[in-house]
Amino acid sequence: MTKNKTEQPAETMQAVLQCSRCGSENVCIWDSRKLHGSQIRRRKCKDCNMRWTTIEVDYYQWLHEIESR
Ligand SMILES: [Zn+2]
Repeated sequence: MTKNKTEQPAETMQAVLQCSRCGSENVCIWDSRKLHGSQIRRRKCKDCNMRWTTIEVDYYQWLHEIESR
């Protein structure tokens, strides 16, 4: 049995973030800020000009948020 599935580390998956509309990797971050310990990044596709926001939450804080509800 051949193993053809390559496992990528989380850092690599985050670096190759693609545009969800056109699939382009020509994506830049035009704004980033911290909010309640979370990193909010506003990304923009240079090919089709679509903009979206990604929120990176600290893992342990995220667990705390779930448990406190
Ligand atoms: Zn695009």
